[in-house]
Amino acid sequence: MTRDATHDVTNQAPPLAGHDVSADQALLEGLAREGADWATGELRRLGLLAGSEKAQEWGRLANEHPPVLRTHDRYGNRIDEVEFHPAWHELMSVAVGNGLHASPWTSARPGAHVARAAKFFVWSQVEAGHGCPISMTYAAVAALRHSPSLRAEWEPLLASRTYDFGLRPPLEKRGVLAGMAMTEKQGGSDVRAGTTRAEPLGDGSFALTGHKWFNSAPMCDAFLVLAQAPRGLSCFLLPRVLPDGTRNAMRLMRLKDKLGNRSNASAEVEYDGATAFLVGEEGRGVRTIIEMVNMTRLDCVTGSAAGMRQGLSQALHHARHRSAFGRPLADQPLMRAVLADLALESEAATTLMTRLAGATDRAVAGDAAEGLFRRAALAAAKYWICKRAPVHAAEALECLGGNGYVEESQMPRLFRESPLNGIWEGSGNVAALDLMRVLAREPEAVEAFFAEVARAGDHRVGDAAERVLKTLASAGEADARRVAEEMTLVLQASLLVRHAPAPVADAFCASRLGGDWGRAFGTLPAGLDLEPILERAASA
Ligand SMILES: Cc1cc2nc3c(=O)[nH]c(=O)nc-3n(C[C@H](O)[C@H](O)[C@H](O)COP(=O)(O)OP(=O)(O)OC[C@H]3O[C@@H](n4cnc5c(N)ncnc54)[C@H](O)[C@@H]3O)c2cc1C
Repeated sequence: MTRDATHDVTNQAPPLAGHDVSADQALLEGLAREGADWATGELRRLGLLAGSEKAQEWGRLANEHPPVLRTHDRYGNRIDEVEFHPAWHELMSVAVGNGLHASPWTSARPGAHVARAAKFFVWSQVEAGHGCPISMTYAAVAALRHSPSLRAEWEPLLASRTYDFGLRPPLEKRGVLAGMAMTEKQGGSDVRAGTTRAEPLGDGSFALTGHKWFNSAPMCDAFLVLAQAPRGLSCFLLPRVLPDGTRNAMRLMRLKDKLGNRSNASAEVEYDGATAFLVGEEGRGVRTIIEMVNMTRLDCVTGSAAGMRQGLSQALHHARHRSAFGRPLADQPLMRAVLADLALESEAATTLMTRLAGATDRAVAGDAAEGLFRRAALAAAKYWICKRAPVHAAEALECLGGNGYVEESQMPRLFRESPLNGIWEGSGNVAALDLMRVLAREPEAVEAFFAEVARAGDHRVGDAAERVLKTLASAGEADARRVAEEMTLVLQASLLVRHAPAPVADAFCASRLGGDWGRAFGTLPAGLDLEPILERAASA
Protein backbone atom coordinates (compact mmCIF):
# COMPACT_ATOMS: atom_id res chain seq x y z
CA MET A 1 0.00 0.00 0.00
CA THR A 2 1.37 3.43 -0.95
CA ARG A 3 1.12 6.32 1.46
CA ASP A 4 -1.46 7.96 -0.82
CA ALA A 5 -3.81 5.03 -0.38
CA THR A 6 -4.54 6.20 3.15
CA HIS A 7 -6.56 8.94 1.50
CA ASP A 8 -8.94 6.71 -0.40
CA VAL A 9 -12.44 8.04 -0.08
CA THR A 10 -15.14 5.47 0.45
CA ASN A 11 -18.74 5.45 1.61
CA GLN A 12 -19.29 9.13 0.83
CA ALA A 13 -22.44 10.01 -1.11
CA PRO A 14 -21.83 11.64 -4.51
CA PRO A 15 -23.21 15.17 -4.86
CA LEU A 16 -26.89 15.30 -5.75
CA ALA A 17 -26.57 16.95 -9.18
CA GLY A 18 -27.63 16.40 -12.77
CA HIS A 19 -31.16 15.47 -11.71
CA ASP A 20 -34.57 16.94 -12.47
CA VAL A 21 -35.77 18.87 -9.44
CA SER A 22 -39.31 18.80 -10.82
CA ALA A 23 -39.32 14.98 -10.73
CA ASP A 24 -41.68 15.11 -7.81
CA GLN A 25 -44.93 13.20 -8.01
CA ALA A 26 -46.85 15.31 -5.51
CA LEU A 27 -45.90 18.43 -7.47
CA LEU A 28 -46.59 17.06 -10.96
CA GLU A 29 -49.92 15.58 -9.93
CA GLY A 30 -50.89 18.84 -8.20
CA LEU A 31 -49.93 20.79 -11.30
CA ALA A 32 -52.22 18.66 -13.47
CA ARG A 33 -55.05 18.57 -10.92
CA GLU A 34 -55.09 22.34 -10.53
CA GLY A 35 -55.32 22.94 -14.26
CA ALA A 36 -51.75 23.62 -15.33
CA ASP A 37 -50.54 20.40 -16.90
CA TRP A 38 -49.91 22.49 -20.02
CA ALA A 39 -46.86 23.85 -18.13
CA THR A 40 -45.29 20.43 -17.50
CA GLY A 41 -42.72 20.78 -20.30
CA GLU A 42 -41.52 24.20 -19.11
CA LEU A 43 -41.45 22.99 -15.52
CA ARG A 44 -39.33 19.99 -16.38
CA ARG A 45 -36.86 22.10 -18.35
CA LEU A 46 -36.53 24.41 -15.35
CA GLY A 47 -36.23 21.36 -13.09
CA LEU A 48 -33.27 20.07 -15.09
CA LEU A 49 -31.55 23.43 -14.93
CA ALA A 50 -32.28 23.61 -11.18
CA GLY A 51 -30.62 20.23 -10.70
CA SER A 52 -27.55 21.11 -12.76
CA GLU A 53 -24.15 21.67 -11.23
CA LYS A 54 -24.04 25.07 -12.91
CA ALA A 55 -27.17 26.35 -11.16
CA GLN A 56 -26.10 24.90 -7.82
CA GLU A 57 -22.80 26.72 -8.18
CA TRP A 58 -24.67 30.00 -8.77
CA GLY A 59 -26.53 29.35 -5.53
CA ARG A 60 -23.33 28.74 -3.63
CA LEU A 61 -21.52 31.76 -5.04
CA ALA A 62 -24.43 34.13 -4.51
CA ASN A 63 -24.43 33.20 -0.83
CA GLU A 64 -20.69 33.09 -0.29
CA HIS A 65 -20.37 36.56 -1.84
CA PRO A 66 -23.21 38.48 -0.25
CA PRO A 67 -24.27 41.88 -1.58
CA VAL A 68 -22.25 44.96 -0.67
CA LEU A 69 -23.69 48.43 -0.03
CA ARG A 70 -22.03 51.37 -1.76
CA THR A 71 -23.46 54.51 -0.22
CA HIS A 72 -21.12 56.97 -2.01
CA ASP A 73 -19.03 57.17 -5.14
CA ARG A 74 -15.34 57.97 -5.01
CA TYR A 75 -16.08 61.72 -4.99
CA GLY A 76 -18.43 61.58 -2.04
CA ASN A 77 -21.68 61.74 -3.99
CA ARG A 78 -24.42 59.52 -2.62
CA ILE A 79 -25.24 56.65 -4.92
CA ASP A 80 -27.08 54.22 -2.59
CA GLU A 81 -26.35 51.17 -4.68
CA VAL A 82 -25.93 47.53 -3.83
CA GLU A 83 -23.43 45.40 -5.67
CA PHE A 84 -24.15 41.71 -6.26
CA HIS A 85 -22.02 38.79 -7.36
CA PRO A 86 -22.60 37.80 -11.03
CA ALA A 87 -24.12 34.51 -9.79
CA TRP A 88 -27.02 36.51 -8.28
CA HIS A 89 -27.72 38.03 -11.67
CA GLU A 90 -27.67 34.60 -13.31
CA LEU A 91 -30.26 33.34 -10.84
CA MET A 92 -32.40 36.45 -11.34
CA SER A 93 -32.18 36.18 -15.15
CA VAL A 94 -33.49 32.62 -15.08
CA ALA A 95 -36.28 33.51 -12.64
CA VAL A 96 -37.41 36.54 -14.67
CA GLY A 97 -36.90 34.75 -17.99
CA ASN A 98 -39.22 32.01 -16.81
CA GLY A 99 -41.85 34.49 -15.67
CA LEU A 100 -41.65 33.58 -11.98
CA HIS A 101 -42.00 37.28 -11.17
CA ALA A 102 -45.20 38.00 -13.14
CA SER A 103 -46.25 35.48 -15.80
CA PRO A 104 -49.84 34.96 -14.53
CA TRP A 105 -50.60 38.65 -14.94
CA THR A 106 -50.05 38.50 -18.70
CA SER A 107 -51.95 35.28 -19.29
CA ALA A 108 -55.62 34.56 -18.86
CA ARG A 109 -54.91 30.86 -19.28
CA PRO A 110 -56.48 28.82 -16.48
CA GLY A 111 -53.79 27.48 -14.21
CA ALA A 112 -51.37 30.38 -14.80
CA HIS A 113 -50.85 31.01 -11.06
CA VAL A 114 -50.43 27.27 -10.48
CA ALA A 115 -47.80 26.98 -13.20
CA ARG A 116 -45.95 29.94 -11.77
CA ALA A 117 -46.12 28.58 -8.19
CA ALA A 118 -44.79 25.20 -9.36
CA LYS A 119 -41.88 26.89 -11.12
CA PHE A 120 -41.19 29.03 -8.07
CA PHE A 121 -41.21 25.82 -5.99
CA VAL A 122 -38.67 24.16 -8.28
CA TRP A 123 -36.37 27.13 -8.82
CA SER A 124 -36.35 28.09 -5.09
CA GLN A 125 -34.63 24.78 -4.43
CA VAL A 126 -31.52 26.12 -6.15
CA GLU A 127 -31.33 29.27 -4.05
CA ALA A 128 -34.05 30.81 -1.92
CA GLY A 129 -32.69 34.35 -1.39
CA HIS A 130 -33.35 35.71 -4.85
CA GLY A 131 -36.94 34.55 -4.56
CA CYS A 132 -37.57 37.66 -2.45
CA PRO A 133 -37.60 40.32 -5.24
CA ILE A 134 -39.18 37.77 -7.60
CA SER A 135 -42.01 37.15 -5.19
CA MET A 136 -42.50 40.83 -4.36
CA THR A 137 -42.71 41.77 -8.03
CA TYR A 138 -45.35 39.08 -8.62
CA ALA A 139 -47.30 40.34 -5.63
CA ALA A 140 -46.95 44.07 -6.33
CA VAL A 141 -48.95 43.78 -9.53
CA ALA A 142 -52.02 42.70 -7.54
CA ALA A 143 -51.89 45.88 -5.45
CA LEU A 144 -50.97 48.16 -8.33
CA ARG A 145 -54.20 47.22 -10.05
CA HIS A 146 -55.88 49.58 -7.57
CA SER A 147 -54.48 52.46 -9.58
CA PRO A 148 -55.33 52.24 -13.32
CA SER A 149 -52.89 54.91 -14.47
CA LEU A 150 -49.91 53.51 -12.54
CA ARG A 151 -50.91 50.06 -13.66
CA ALA A 152 -50.95 51.10 -17.33
CA GLU A 153 -47.47 52.58 -16.99
CA TRP A 154 -45.79 49.96 -14.80
CA GLU A 155 -47.45 46.61 -15.41
CA PRO A 156 -45.96 45.94 -18.87
CA LEU A 157 -42.50 46.64 -17.46
CA LEU A 158 -43.06 44.53 -14.36
CA ALA A 159 -44.30 41.67 -16.53
CA SER A 160 -41.38 41.85 -18.97
CA ARG A 161 -39.28 38.70 -19.15
CA THR A 162 -36.05 40.68 -19.39
CA TYR A 163 -33.94 41.10 -16.28
CA ASP A 164 -32.49 44.57 -16.70
CA PHE A 165 -30.42 45.38 -13.59
CA GLY A 166 -29.41 48.92 -12.62
CA LEU A 167 -30.77 52.27 -11.48
CA ARG A 168 -32.11 54.06 -14.54
CA PRO A 169 -35.42 55.79 -15.33
CA PRO A 170 -37.90 52.90 -15.17
CA LEU A 171 -39.67 53.74 -18.39
CA GLU A 172 -36.37 53.49 -20.25
CA LYS A 173 -35.68 49.98 -18.96
CA ARG A 174 -36.55 46.70 -20.65
CA GLY A 175 -37.92 45.24 -17.44
CA VAL A 176 -38.35 46.38 -13.83
CA LEU A 177 -38.76 44.82 -10.39
CA ALA A 178 -40.72 45.94 -7.33
CA GLY A 179 -40.30 45.61 -3.57
CA MET A 180 -42.30 46.48 -0.50
CA ALA A 181 -41.57 48.69 2.50
CA MET A 182 -43.91 48.53 5.47
CA THR A 183 -41.85 47.62 8.53
CA GLU A 184 -40.51 50.49 10.67
CA LYS A 185 -38.28 50.52 13.73
CA GLN A 186 -41.10 50.87 16.20
CA GLY A 187 -43.25 48.15 14.66
CA GLY A 188 -43.65 45.71 11.81
CA SER A 189 -46.75 43.70 12.64
CA ASP A 190 -48.55 46.82 13.79
CA VAL A 191 -48.17 48.72 10.50
CA ARG A 192 -50.74 51.32 11.52
CA ALA A 193 -48.17 52.63 14.00
CA GLY A 194 -45.96 53.72 11.07
CA THR A 195 -44.52 57.21 11.36
CA THR A 196 -43.39 57.92 7.78
CA ARG A 197 -45.28 61.00 6.57
CA ALA A 198 -46.67 61.67 3.09
CA GLU A 199 -47.36 65.28 2.13
CA PRO A 200 -49.34 66.07 -1.01
CA LEU A 201 -47.36 68.20 -3.47
CA GLY A 202 -50.45 69.43 -5.32
CA ASP A 203 -49.57 67.75 -8.63
CA GLY A 204 -50.88 64.31 -7.66
CA SER A 205 -47.57 63.23 -6.17
CA PHE A 206 -46.55 63.11 -2.49
CA ALA A 207 -43.30 63.76 -0.63
CA LEU A 208 -42.40 60.97 1.82
CA THR A 209 -40.30 61.64 4.90
CA GLY A 210 -39.36 58.94 7.38
CA HIS A 211 -37.72 55.56 7.44
CA LYS A 212 -38.21 51.81 6.96
CA TRP A 213 -36.40 49.26 9.09
CA PHE A 214 -36.53 46.37 6.63
CA ASN A 215 -36.57 47.04 2.90
CA SER A 216 -35.45 43.97 1.06
CA ALA A 217 -34.07 43.96 -2.46
CA PRO A 218 -33.36 47.71 -2.39
CA MET A 219 -32.09 47.67 -5.99
CA CYS A 220 -35.66 47.15 -7.18
CA ASP A 221 -36.97 49.89 -9.44
CA ALA A 222 -39.95 50.78 -7.25
CA PHE A 223 -41.48 49.98 -3.88
CA LEU A 224 -44.94 49.87 -2.48
CA VAL A 225 -44.62 51.89 0.71
CA LEU A 226 -47.00 52.67 3.55
CA ALA A 227 -47.01 56.24 4.86
CA GLN A 228 -49.30 58.52 6.86
CA ALA A 229 -51.11 60.89 4.47
CA PRO A 230 -53.54 63.64 5.56
CA ARG A 231 -56.44 61.15 5.34
CA GLY A 232 -54.58 58.33 7.10
CA LEU A 233 -52.25 55.45 6.34
CA SER A 234 -51.96 55.09 2.57
CA CYS A 235 -50.12 52.99 0.02
CA PHE A 236 -47.65 54.64 -2.38
CA LEU A 237 -45.51 53.63 -5.31
CA LEU A 238 -42.03 55.02 -4.75
CA PRO A 239 -39.69 54.78 -7.78
CA ARG A 240 -35.95 54.63 -7.12
CA VAL A 241 -35.18 56.81 -10.14
CA LEU A 242 -37.44 59.66 -11.23
CA PRO A 243 -38.48 60.18 -14.86
CA ASP A 244 -35.84 62.94 -15.31
CA GLY A 245 -33.12 60.47 -14.37
CA THR A 246 -32.40 61.84 -10.89
CA ARG A 247 -32.32 59.41 -8.00
CA ASN A 248 -35.25 59.63 -5.66
CA ALA A 249 -34.47 60.72 -2.08
CA MET A 250 -34.37 57.18 -0.71
CA ARG A 251 -31.14 56.58 1.19
CA LEU A 252 -29.80 53.14 2.02
CA MET A 253 -28.44 53.46 5.56
CA ARG A 254 -27.04 49.95 5.98
CA LEU A 255 -27.66 46.33 5.04
CA LYS A 256 -28.84 43.81 7.62
CA ASP A 257 -26.39 41.14 8.71
CA LYS A 258 -28.87 38.26 8.53
CA LEU A 259 -29.01 34.69 9.84
CA GLY A 260 -29.76 33.38 6.35
CA ASN A 261 -31.11 34.79 3.09
CA ARG A 262 -27.59 36.09 2.64
CA SER A 263 -27.58 36.38 -1.13
CA ASN A 264 -30.40 38.90 -0.88
CA ALA A 265 -29.90 42.45 0.39
CA SER A 266 -32.22 43.81 3.09
CA ALA A 267 -31.69 47.49 3.81
CA GLU A 268 -32.60 50.08 6.38
CA VAL A 269 -33.74 53.12 4.43
CA GLU A 270 -34.62 56.74 4.98
CA TYR A 271 -36.81 58.97 2.83
CA ASP A 272 -35.97 62.65 2.70
CA GLY A 273 -38.93 64.07 0.82
CA ALA A 274 -38.94 61.17 -1.63
CA THR A 275 -41.42 61.42 -4.49
CA ALA A 276 -44.19 58.83 -4.44
CA PHE A 277 -47.58 58.22 -6.06
CA LEU A 278 -50.77 57.18 -4.33
CA VAL A 279 -51.94 53.61 -5.02
CA GLY A 280 -55.61 52.98 -4.26
CA GLU A 281 -57.61 55.24 -1.99
CA GLU A 282 -55.95 57.66 0.42
CA GLY A 283 -56.40 56.42 3.99
CA ARG A 284 -56.98 52.81 2.82
CA GLY A 285 -53.33 51.82 2.60
CA VAL A 286 -53.61 48.55 4.50
CA ARG A 287 -56.51 47.43 2.35
CA THR A 288 -54.47 48.17 -0.78
CA ILE A 289 -51.16 46.65 0.27
CA ILE A 290 -52.89 43.57 1.68
CA GLU A 291 -53.48 42.53 -1.95
CA MET A 292 -49.71 42.31 -2.25
CA VAL A 293 -49.29 40.58 1.11
CA ASN A 294 -51.88 37.99 0.13
CA MET A 295 -49.73 36.99 -2.80
CA THR A 296 -46.44 37.00 -0.92
CA ARG A 297 -48.06 34.82 1.77
CA LEU A 298 -48.75 32.22 -0.89
CA ASP A 299 -45.06 32.35 -1.75
CA CYS A 300 -44.14 31.89 1.92
CA VAL A 301 -46.09 28.63 1.82
CA THR A 302 -44.60 27.68 -1.55
CA GLY A 303 -41.07 28.56 -0.44
CA SER A 304 -41.40 26.54 2.77
CA ALA A 305 -42.83 23.56 0.90
CA ALA A 306 -39.92 23.86 -1.55
CA GLY A 307 -37.42 23.87 1.32
CA MET A 308 -38.98 20.70 2.70
CA ARG A 309 -38.76 18.99 -0.67
CA GLN A 310 -35.13 20.09 -1.05
CA GLY A 311 -34.23 18.75 2.40
CA LEU A 312 -36.07 15.50 1.73
CA SER A 313 -34.31 15.00 -1.63
CA GLN A 314 -30.92 15.50 -0.01
CA ALA A 315 -31.76 13.17 2.87
CA LEU A 316 -33.06 10.41 0.57
CA HIS A 317 -30.03 10.72 -1.67
CA HIS A 318 -27.59 10.55 1.20
CA ALA A 319 -29.33 7.61 2.85
CA ARG A 320 -29.20 5.65 -0.40
CA HIS A 321 -25.46 6.17 -0.79
CA ARG A 322 -24.19 5.96 2.76
CA SER A 323 -23.83 2.73 4.69
CA ALA A 324 -23.44 2.21 8.41
CA PHE A 325 -23.19 -1.01 10.35
CA GLY A 326 -22.95 -2.95 7.07
CA ARG A 327 -26.12 -1.68 5.40
CA PRO A 328 -27.19 1.42 3.45
CA LEU A 329 -28.86 3.90 5.77
CA ALA A 330 -31.88 3.80 3.48
CA ASP A 331 -32.39 0.16 4.47
CA GLN A 332 -32.25 0.70 8.22
CA PRO A 333 -35.72 0.57 9.80
CA LEU A 334 -35.36 3.61 11.99
CA MET A 335 -33.90 5.75 9.20
CA ARG A 336 -36.76 4.61 6.97
CA ALA A 337 -39.21 5.76 9.61
CA VAL A 338 -37.55 9.19 9.67
CA LEU A 339 -37.42 9.49 5.87
CA ALA A 340 -41.04 8.39 5.46
CA ASP A 341 -42.16 10.93 8.03
CA LEU A 342 -40.19 13.72 6.29
CA ALA A 343 -41.74 12.59 2.99
CA LEU A 344 -45.24 12.80 4.45
CA GLU A 345 -44.69 16.32 5.70
CA SER A 346 -43.23 17.36 2.36
CA GLU A 347 -46.06 15.84 0.33
CA ALA A 348 -48.72 17.36 2.58
CA ALA A 349 -47.11 20.80 2.21
CA THR A 350 -46.75 20.45 -1.56
CA THR A 351 -50.32 19.26 -2.01
CA LEU A 352 -51.71 22.13 0.04
CA MET A 353 -49.48 24.61 -1.79
CA THR A 354 -50.78 23.50 -5.20
CA ARG A 355 -54.38 23.63 -3.92
CA LEU A 356 -53.83 27.19 -2.69
CA ALA A 357 -52.25 28.20 -5.99
CA GLY A 358 -55.28 26.73 -7.77
CA ALA A 359 -57.60 28.69 -5.48
CA THR A 360 -55.60 31.84 -6.26
CA ASP A 361 -55.98 31.20 -9.95
CA ARG A 362 -59.71 30.75 -9.75
CA ALA A 363 -60.22 33.59 -7.26
CA VAL A 364 -58.35 36.03 -9.51
CA ALA A 365 -60.60 34.88 -12.38
CA GLY A 366 -63.65 35.81 -10.29
CA ASP A 367 -64.60 32.57 -8.50
CA ALA A 368 -65.95 33.93 -5.20
CA ALA A 369 -66.17 30.53 -3.47
CA GLU A 370 -62.52 29.86 -4.16
CA GLY A 371 -61.67 33.33 -2.87
CA LEU A 372 -63.46 32.53 0.40
CA PHE A 373 -61.72 29.17 0.76
CA ARG A 374 -58.37 30.78 0.05
CA ARG A 375 -58.98 33.50 2.65
CA ALA A 376 -59.21 31.00 5.53
CA ALA A 377 -56.88 28.32 4.18
CA LEU A 378 -54.00 30.65 3.35
CA ALA A 379 -53.99 32.25 6.83
CA ALA A 380 -53.86 28.79 8.45
CA ALA A 381 -51.27 27.44 6.01
CA LYS A 382 -49.03 30.51 6.28
CA TYR A 383 -48.84 29.77 9.99
CA TRP A 384 -48.41 26.00 9.97
CA ILE A 385 -46.38 25.19 6.85
CA CYS A 386 -43.86 27.93 7.67
CA LYS A 387 -43.75 26.71 11.28
CA ARG A 388 -42.92 23.15 10.13
CA ALA A 389 -40.10 24.19 7.79
CA PRO A 390 -37.30 24.69 10.39
CA VAL A 391 -37.95 21.40 12.20
CA HIS A 392 -38.14 19.60 8.88
CA ALA A 393 -34.87 21.20 7.73
CA ALA A 394 -33.14 20.28 11.01
CA GLU A 395 -34.22 16.66 10.73
CA ALA A 396 -33.28 16.40 7.04
CA LEU A 397 -29.88 17.90 7.89
CA GLU A 398 -29.36 15.30 10.60
CA CYS A 399 -29.97 12.50 8.09
CA LEU A 400 -26.64 13.54 6.53
CA GLY A 401 -24.90 13.24 9.88
CA GLY A 402 -21.87 15.52 10.29
CA ASN A 403 -21.78 16.21 6.56
CA GLY A 404 -25.15 17.90 6.91
CA TYR A 405 -23.65 20.39 9.33
CA VAL A 406 -21.02 21.45 6.81
CA GLU A 407 -21.66 24.26 4.33
CA GLU A 408 -20.69 22.24 1.25
CA SER A 409 -23.73 20.02 1.76
CA GLN A 410 -26.09 23.03 1.23
CA MET A 411 -27.98 21.93 4.33
CA PRO A 412 -26.79 24.76 6.62
CA ARG A 413 -28.05 27.26 4.04
CA LEU A 414 -31.40 25.49 3.90
CA PHE A 415 -31.58 25.46 7.69
CA ARG A 416 -30.68 29.14 8.08
CA GLU A 417 -33.27 30.12 5.50
CA SER A 418 -36.01 27.98 7.01
CA PRO A 419 -37.38 30.30 9.76
CA LEU A 420 -37.70 33.29 7.45
CA ASN A 421 -41.03 32.52 5.79
CA GLY A 422 -42.48 32.25 9.28
CA ILE A 423 -41.35 35.79 10.11
CA TRP A 424 -42.07 38.00 7.15
CA GLU A 425 -45.51 38.75 5.70
CA GLY A 426 -47.01 38.32 9.16
CA SER A 427 -45.05 36.40 11.81
CA GLY A 428 -46.49 33.18 13.28
CA ASN A 429 -48.74 34.82 15.85
CA VAL A 430 -49.92 37.44 13.40
CA ALA A 431 -50.84 34.81 10.79
CA ALA A 432 -52.69 32.77 13.42
CA LEU A 433 -54.51 35.88 14.68
CA ASP A 434 -55.47 36.69 11.09
CA LEU A 435 -57.17 33.30 10.95
CA MET A 436 -59.02 34.15 14.19
CA ARG A 437 -60.26 37.33 12.50
CA VAL A 438 -61.62 35.22 9.65
CA LEU A 439 -63.34 32.94 12.15
CA ALA A 440 -64.91 35.89 13.93
CA ARG A 441 -65.91 37.99 10.94
CA GLU A 442 -66.08 35.91 7.79
CA PRO A 443 -68.40 32.94 8.39
CA GLU A 444 -68.65 32.24 4.65
CA ALA A 445 -64.89 31.73 4.43
CA VAL A 446 -65.01 29.31 7.37
CA GLU A 447 -67.88 27.47 5.69
CA ALA A 448 -65.94 27.25 2.43
CA PHE A 449 -62.95 25.89 4.33
CA PHE A 450 -64.86 23.10 6.07
CA ALA A 451 -66.82 22.30 2.91
CA GLU A 452 -63.48 21.63 1.22
CA VAL A 453 -62.38 19.43 4.13
CA ALA A 454 -65.65 17.47 3.93
CA ARG A 455 -65.04 16.63 0.26
CA ALA A 456 -62.74 13.83 1.42
CA GLY A 457 -65.80 11.93 2.65
CA ASP A 458 -63.53 10.16 5.13
CA HIS A 459 -64.47 9.37 8.72
CA ARG A 460 -60.97 10.04 10.12
CA VAL A 461 -60.91 13.49 8.55
CA GLY A 462 -64.57 14.06 9.39
CA ASP A 463 -64.08 13.15 13.06
CA ALA A 464 -61.02 15.39 13.33
CA ALA A 465 -62.88 18.26 11.65
CA GLU A 466 -65.75 17.81 14.12
CA ARG A 467 -63.31 18.08 17.02
CA VAL A 468 -61.77 21.24 15.55
CA LEU A 469 -65.18 22.80 14.91
CA LYS A 470 -66.19 22.16 18.53
CA THR A 471 -63.13 23.97 19.86
CA LEU A 472 -63.64 26.97 17.55
CA ALA A 473 -66.70 28.20 19.37
CA SER A 474 -64.80 28.87 22.60
CA ALA A 475 -61.37 29.64 21.11
CA GLY A 476 -59.79 32.95 22.05
CA GLU A 477 -56.63 34.77 20.94
CA ALA A 478 -54.40 32.57 23.07
CA ASP A 479 -55.68 29.49 21.21
CA ALA A 480 -54.92 30.91 17.76
CA ARG A 481 -51.85 28.75 17.10
CA ARG A 482 -53.62 25.52 18.05
CA VAL A 483 -56.57 26.45 15.85
CA ALA A 484 -54.35 27.28 12.86
CA GLU A 485 -52.36 24.09 13.29
CA GLU A 486 -55.38 21.83 13.63
CA MET A 487 -57.26 23.46 10.76
CA THR A 488 -54.25 23.03 8.47
CA LEU A 489 -53.81 19.41 9.49
CA VAL A 490 -57.42 18.47 8.74
CA LEU A 491 -57.20 20.27 5.40
CA GLN A 492 -53.95 18.51 4.51
CA ALA A 493 -55.40 15.15 5.57
CA SER A 494 -58.49 15.76 3.48
CA LEU A 495 -56.43 16.66 0.39
CA LEU A 496 -54.17 13.63 0.81
CA VAL A 497 -57.16 11.30 1.22
CA ARG A 498 -58.55 12.62 -2.05
CA HIS A 499 -55.38 12.88 -4.06
CA ALA A 500 -52.48 10.84 -2.67
CA PRO A 501 -51.99 7.06 -2.64
CA ALA A 502 -53.72 5.40 0.33
CA PRO A 503 -50.51 4.60 2.28
CA VAL A 504 -49.58 8.31 2.26
CA ALA A 505 -53.03 9.42 3.39
CA ASP A 506 -53.27 6.64 5.98
CA ALA A 507 -49.93 7.45 7.53
CA PHE A 508 -50.75 11.16 7.62
CA CYS A 509 -54.13 10.60 9.26
CA ALA A 510 -52.67 8.10 11.74
CA SER A 511 -49.84 10.38 12.79
CA ARG A 512 -51.28 13.90 12.49
CA LEU A 513 -54.96 13.73 13.41
CA GLY A 514 -54.66 12.03 16.77
CA GLY A 515 -54.34 15.17 18.84
CA ASP A 516 -51.12 14.05 20.55
CA TRP A 517 -49.02 16.05 18.17
CA GLY A 518 -45.60 17.36 19.21
CA ARG A 519 -43.50 14.29 18.52
CA ALA A 520 -40.22 14.31 16.59
CA PHE A 521 -40.05 13.07 13.02
CA GLY A 522 -39.61 9.30 12.79
CA THR A 523 -42.27 8.41 15.36
CA LEU A 524 -45.02 7.23 13.02
CA PRO A 525 -47.39 4.75 14.66
CA ALA A 526 -46.60 1.06 14.25
CA GLY A 527 -48.15 -1.03 11.51
CA LEU A 528 -48.07 1.52 8.67
CA ASP A 529 -46.91 0.60 5.18
CA LEU A 530 -43.90 2.89 4.66
CA GLU A 531 -42.57 1.30 1.50
CA PRO A 532 -44.91 3.08 -0.94
CA ILE A 533 -44.33 6.41 0.80
CA LEU A 534 -40.59 6.14 0.34
CA GLU A 535 -40.86 4.84 -3.22
CA ARG A 536 -43.13 7.70 -4.16
CA ALA A 537 -40.84 10.30 -2.59
CA ALA A 538 -37.85 8.93 -4.46
CA SER A 539 -39.28 8.74 -7.97
CA ALA A 540 -41.43 10.59 -10.47
C1 LIG B 1 -34.84 39.00 6.18
C2 LIG B 1 -36.02 39.90 6.36
C3 LIG B 1 -36.44 40.67 5.29
C4 LIG B 1 -37.53 41.52 5.43
N1 LIG B 1 -37.91 42.30 4.36
C5 LIG B 1 -38.94 43.16 4.51
C6 LIG B 1 -39.33 44.02 3.44
O1 LIG B 1 -38.79 43.96 2.34
N2 LIG B 1 -40.32 44.91 3.66
C7 LIG B 1 -40.96 44.99 4.85
O2 LIG B 1 -41.86 45.80 4.98
N3 LIG B 1 -40.61 44.21 5.88
C8 LIG B 1 -39.63 43.29 5.74
N4 LIG B 1 -39.26 42.48 6.79
C9 LIG B 1 -39.86 42.71 8.09
C10 LIG B 1 -40.86 41.67 8.52
O3 LIG B 1 -42.01 41.73 7.72
C11 LIG B 1 -41.15 41.95 10.00
O4 LIG B 1 -39.96 41.65 10.72
C12 LIG B 1 -42.30 41.14 10.53
O5 LIG B 1 -43.51 41.56 9.94
C13 LIG B 1 -42.43 41.29 12.06
O6 LIG B 1 -42.39 42.62 12.44
P1 LIG B 1 -41.37 43.11 13.58
O7 LIG B 1 -40.02 42.64 13.20
O8 LIG B 1 -41.54 44.56 13.77
O9 LIG B 1 -41.80 42.33 14.86
P2 LIG B 1 -42.97 42.72 15.87
O10 LIG B 1 -44.13 43.27 15.13
O11 LIG B 1 -42.42 43.51 16.96
O12 LIG B 1 -43.36 41.27 16.41
C14 LIG B 1 -42.51 40.56 17.33
C15 LIG B 1 -43.20 39.26 17.70
O13 LIG B 1 -44.44 39.55 18.32
C16 LIG B 1 -45.49 38.84 17.69
N5 LIG B 1 -46.72 39.64 17.76
C17 LIG B 1 -46.99 40.81 17.15
N6 LIG B 1 -48.23 41.21 17.44
C18 LIG B 1 -48.75 40.28 18.27
C19 LIG B 1 -50.00 40.12 18.93
N7 LIG B 1 -50.99 40.99 18.76
N8 LIG B 1 -50.19 39.03 19.71
C20 LIG B 1 -49.23 38.12 19.86
N9 LIG B 1 -48.02 38.21 19.27
C21 LIG B 1 -47.79 39.28 18.48
C22 LIG B 1 -45.02 38.58 16.28
O14 LIG B 1 -45.65 37.43 15.73
C23 LIG B 1 -43.53 38.38 16.50
O15 LIG B 1 -43.28 37.05 16.83
C24 LIG B 1 -38.19 41.60 6.66
C25 LIG B 1 -37.78 40.80 7.73
C26 LIG B 1 -36.71 39.95 7.59
C27 LIG B 1 -36.27 39.12 8.75
